[in-house]
Amino acid sequence: MKPRPFTLQLFTLAGTPVRVHWSLAALLIVATLGAGALGGWREALRQGLWWGLLFGFVLLHEIGHLLTARLLQIPVTSVLLWPLGGFTAVRLPPGRFGAEFAIALAGPAVNLLIALSAMGMGGIPQGMSGGQGAPWGFWSTLWLLNLLLGAFNLLPVFPLDGGRILRSILAMGLGEDRGTRLALRMGQAGAMGIGGLAVWQFMHRDPGGLVTMTVAMWLFSQTLQEARLFHRQERLRRIPVAPYPQPLRIAVNDRVALPAARRLLAHCGQPLLPVESAGQWTEGLFPDGGGLRRRALQIVDGESSVASAWACFAQSEEPGLLVVRNGRPIGWLAREQVEALVQNDG
Ligand SMILES: [Zn+2]
Repeated sequence: MKPRPFTLQLFTLAGTPVRVHWSLAALLIVATLGAGALGGWREALRQGLWWGLLFGFVLLHEIGHLLTARLLQIPVTSVLLWPLGGFTAVRLPPGRFGAEFAIALAGPAVNLLIALSAMGMGGIPQGMSGGQGAPWGFWSTLWLLNLLLGAFNLLPVFPLDGGRILRSILAMGLGEDRGTRLALRMGQAGAMGIGGLAVWQFMHRDPGGLVTMTVAMWLFSQTLQEARLFHRQERLRRIPVAPYPQPLRIAVNDRVALPAARRLLAHCGQPLLPVESAGQWTEGLFPDGGGLRRRALQIVDGESSVASAWACFAQSEEPGLLVVRNGRPIGWLAREQVEALVQNDG
């Protein structure tokens, strides 16, 4: 991942940084102070508590995704909370649709579990149970909040969790391309359906229609964005990586003396020296000031497509990839080159 500006790291969980965007922190402070100015410190405390709880539940939802992914030994780059919710960046290997299904389901499952527990604590309030229930209070608001969070995320609209669940099921039956295409179309239809509901609300003079319409438009723009990424990925899969790497003619083994390696690197004009260790090319020596820096290398096969190289870069901070053919290093594919190709592709 590229460095994330305007974020604050809260903590690390299962090796993954959990971050919050500054705009969310600012929103919580403004909402609390605003409530305080209008209604006194009790109101500020109440508002602050509810905002904190809401984003606490969003965080628990994301932690559901994170821990399920880690349980399935799938790396997670980061968890980010921002004003529109949360995002867990999972580095899902291609074809792992069962894992995608489980990871996507885990988030809403957390909210539904909290909703059930809160319902157990507070019961069904009056008005919802025909006058016999408990008074509306803290626990009822808690379970309603989590029920809404879980249910919203289960809408079968890509890229919501429900859309990912739908995509993984369709991809298992139809293959990745057809499954994803169908899930994207169904998501767009779903977003339009929510837009239709908003129109129905407007016709019945329900002011809630404004919220529904905003949600529908946001979801629709998200599905368009996902469709754009999918089609770009399709095109990048047809571009071979082969013409782009900078050729590497000189490599060393791990017994090389560092002064010799430094001289070699200075004269050969390569950006690095690949280092062989037990028949594997897992590390490289890079110039670093006057000396050398040794770091792990990620490898891409010379026969693969720009899409696979882009997938490696999107999930890491690697400056480049070692291109190998028949087990031998043949070139260095710099991040900027692939970024330029992807950019030109639109
Ligand atoms: Zn989720």
